Amino acid sequence: MRSVHLTEAHHQFRAQVRGFLDEHMLPFAEAWELERGMPRRAWKQFGDHGLLGLAHATEHGGSARDIFHSIVFLEELGRTGYAGVRASVSLHAYMATHYLARHATADLRAKYLGPSIRGEKIAALAITERDAGSDLSRLATTAVRDGDDYIVTGGKVFITNGANADYYVVAVRTATPDPQVRRANTGVSLLIIDARVPGVTIQRQEKLGWHAAATAELRFEQVRVPADRLIGRENSGFMYLMRGFQLERLVAAALAVGGAERSLDTTLAHVTSRQAFDGKLSSLQAIRHRLADLTTELAGARAFTYHAAWCYAEDELSVTECSMAKLLSTELACRIADASLQLQGARGYLADSDIARIYRDARAGTMAGGATEVMRDIIAQQLIDLGPAREGQHQARSSAKA
Ligand SMILES: Cc1cc2nc3c(=O)[nH]c(=O)nc-3n(C[C@H](O)[C@H](O)[C@H](O)COP(=O)(O)OP(=O)(O)OC[C@H]3O[C@@H](n4cnc5c(N)ncnc54)[C@H](O)[C@@H]3O)c2cc1C
Repeated sequence: MRSVHLTEAHHQFRAQVRGFLDEHMLPFAEAWELERGMPRRAWKQFGDHGLLGLAHATEHGGSARDIFHSIVFLEELGRTGYAGVRASVSLHAYMATHYLARHATADLRAKYLGPSIRGEKIAALAITERDAGSDLSRLATTAVRDGDDYIVTGGKVFITNGANADYYVVAVRTATPDPQVRRANTGVSLLIIDARVPGVTIQRQEKLGWHAAATAELRFEQVRVPADRLIGRENSGFMYLMRGFQLERLVAAALAVGGAERSLDTTLAHVTSRQAFDGKLSSLQAIRHRLADLTTELAGARAFTYHAAWCYAEDELSVTECSMAKLLSTELACRIADASLQLQGARGYLADSDIARIYRDARAGTMAGGATEVMRDIIAQQLIDLGPAREGQHQARSSAKA
């Protein structure tokens, strides 16, 4: 799609990314789905091609490209039709490592961020718990200071890359919440916990889709973590997360746009080749109009995602735009996957068809990274209770999960 935001450099970059994914990802993606995770050599290839450090500063080993290089990369990753891979890579490159780049010490960045950008270490972001999903005020994993260490006890669920990661960026409680605060978000910190240390138990979780995402439940039993693994300041974790969630929502939107494009591509290929009645399915007006509507809606979601990306680049607390982009694009991706499955008929319903996988995968988009209803809550709060001028204040108070 033409866009005022994309230059010739972005178009060339898109072609490079597509070439990389065609050569290094697509031939293997089905095997990664079956193996329930990406192998180390795949991470290294993403790293060697600079695709894990687009948003990171050059002094950390990244290439500090503008936001639209990331958007193009994420769209193309989405366009492969393998949401497990796209979730793994984006969680690593834009979410877990984001907090290291923003708030960690130089030592931690050298130890974890650099190797992650090179694809030598795999990262995961561990926030959600059995009893704390949309409502983060219920976080219960604790980190209690003991000399030069923290002792971490608790558990996390649905952690993308959880089974394969070398380390986790974990949201923990380092102080008891203030009972005076209605939705208690005080006392949250972010800690790096190595995956293979005593007391960490990793249990794979089998899901409906996103099979290559190596999802796991983590248990922390009295895990001793050196205090210098704290990211940023103690008890400031919630504030860091609230800022980071805007990027997470924007990333989810770009991936969903790419995924929806893939749905429509497979459907177009089907209806333009499938003989029925006196011609092709694509000659039937009902089908033509359906595809015209969906393509138009997708163009709108893409344009709005670009707008949100522009807003985010101007101001990382673009709460309304990033939430709207996530809501719009992930919901649309589900509707397009559903319509595509219908238009591809029984072949699309075969378990190993492209559209069956896309359909299963799309469904997670409206939950992961913040449920649709939470996005609506946030947008409504901005609109009705706070007004755009008070976005920043609102985010500091809200405990709604991105
Ligand atoms: C595939 C996948 C990958 C994930 N990866 C990660 C990861 O890497 N790291 C991580 O920390 N977490 C991860 N998550 C967890 C994700 O962030 C949570 O699923 C999300 O925050 C919602 O929490 P929950 O699933 O516990 O739903 P709950 O909070 O139990 O909510 C259940 C449902 O209730 C509704 N609801 C919730 N709040 C409201 C409200 N305010 N108003 C109205 N309705 C509401 C929504 O429909 C929601 O889906 C992943 C989830 C999935 C599905």
